Amino acid sequence: MAESQLYQEVILDHDKKPRNWGELADATHKAEGHNPLCGDHLVLTLKVASDKVDAVNFQGESCAICKASASMMTTTVKGKSKDDVEQLIREFRDLATGKLDPSAPNHLGRLTKAFGGMSGHPTRVKCAVLPWHTLHAALNSQASISTEAEADPMHEQITGGAA
Ligand code: ZN
Repeated sequence: MAESQLYQEVILDHDKKPRNWGELADATHKAEGHNPLCGDHLVLTLKVASDKVDAVNFQGESCAICKASASMMTTTVKGKSKDDVEQLIREFRDLATGKLDPSAPNHLGRLTKAFGGMSGHPTRVKCAVLPWHTLHAALNSQASISTEAEADPMHEQITGGAA
């Protein structure tokens, strides 16, 4: 697949104009994510009240895929319950790794189209999934995660594409 197909318009738009950029001053949860393979580094700050995610902000240094994934994630999970957010994290992970067929019913909306064709690009998958793993870590009061850590936060290694 041509690299250009990965960089769809929606990804470019979020890379140029990231939504919910910066750190929340009144955050209740915070986590950092690293993807040493690409050099992606993110800091997520969350405001969670009564089991609802009221706001998520992010900032850091990352490639376009990671930044767009983080930006779209913040708008997607805003206002959702923690349970719904954990479900979205699982669905996005399965979509990016190719376990979830993009045509199957899911709750990811526009994310499906932007990130549904990534599973053949293992290194890109890590870029796309990093913000979601970091969100999972923040919700579970884990300070930081790395895609190359021994203990994967989702208890499963990402290998990309089917064997
Ligand atoms: Zn990256």
